Amino acid sequence: MFNPEQIEKFKRLKTPFYYYDISLLQKTIDELKKEADKRNYQIHYAVKANANEGILQIINDNGFGADCVSGNEVSKSIEVGFDSNKIVFAGVGKSDEEIKTGLQHEIFCFNVESIQEIEVINSIAGSMNKTAPIALRINPNINPKTHHYITTGLEENKFGINFDDFDQILGKISSYKNLVLTGLHFHIGSQVTDLEVYKSLCIRINELQKWFVDHNIEIKHLNAGGGLGVNYENPDENLIPDFKSFFRVFEQFLELQPDQILHFEIGRAVVAQCGSLISKVLFIKEGLNTNFAILDAGMTELLRPALYQAYHKIENLTSIGKEKRYDVVGPICESSDTFAKSYILPETKRGDLISLRSTGAYGEVMASHYNLRSAIQSYFSDQL
Ligand SMILES: *Cc1c(COP(=O)(O)O)cnc(C)c1O
Repeated sequence: MFNPEQIEKFKRLKTPFYYYDISLLQKTIDELKKEADKRNYQIHYAVKANANEGILQIINDNGFGADCVSGNEVSKSIEVGFDSNKIVFAGVGKSDEEIKTGLQHEIFCFNVESIQEIEVINSIAGSMNKTAPIALRINPNINPKTHHYITTGLEENKFGINFDDFDQILGKISSYKNLVLTGLHFHIGSQVTDLEVYKSLCIRINELQKWFVDHNIEIKHLNAGGGLGVNYENPDENLIPDFKSFFRVFEQFLELQPDQILHFEIGRAVVAQCGSLISKVLFIKEGLNTNFAILDAGMTELLRPALYQAYHKIENLTSIGKEKRYDVVGPICESSDTFAKSYILPETKRGDLISLRSTGAYGEVMASHYNLRSAIQSYFSDQL
């Protein structure tokens, strides 16, 4: 929700733009930090959710580590000031150059996803005279009950290593001189709202841990990944995700070994609710069966609805009046450039300001130049 003073400010800015509520971001971070610190859980912020430099700085200032999925994310995190020994690096397809970047900076851990990747990291580390700390990304085969495009922990997904390959991997790792196995890593998917799923993950991790204990292999850290969901339907009822209940599941069901540290990689839940995409209505087009509200923002600024049918709450900030239904669409030459179909808004007219809520995660960072669109601005609430 925006107050009249904020809306007046929005009217003076060129649309579309991203707006970040920095006080909400800080409150979210405070809550996450409080609940994690209580349990000595280590948090790595998933940079891919939002790599806006100002946002990264705030997150780093609060002492979190970074979870990266590309060499450039590793470099960027270092540039912003993240402590290299709080950086984890995941991804199914790390290039040699990206692996070198991680080794040069002596990051905390490579989360490795295939047998061949382990071989390549060992050989590159050898050529640089380094030892690479690695965590095996294990595919726990758990269905997170989220959209299939953001499911990552099933055997059919491209991510992670299957349990069947363990024997083979362990044999190899012990013969590699430039690797040290420090952890086990899991990430089952994103926008997970059913906490029972995490309970299943804990039980699965316990089973897997037993295998390592039985083989006398010490695992210093576990990394349970991220994925905690947010309330897209009613953001104002749930601005800060329930980190407490989330961590309680792990506290209750995950059996940590003595001195073992539990890590998390949280992206969406930190940044989603603090961001809004503010756009202007260019035209209203009355169709036969529906009316179109055509915005000056499209899938080039916010891809999630086109990419995985994501829902974002839409608000008209400048008109009140009789409600009507609209297909809210962008200007891009693709039919999938649609934010919502048959969406109820107050009667909307050309020039109205529209907010697309909960767009702080996987919003700005997925912007593209398709149709030769220009990059857009972002504004922080404390600087407007
Ligand atoms: C994307 C990703 C995350 C963060 O997921 P969220 O749903 O944003 O919390 C964490 N770990 C890995 C390996 C990822 O790819």
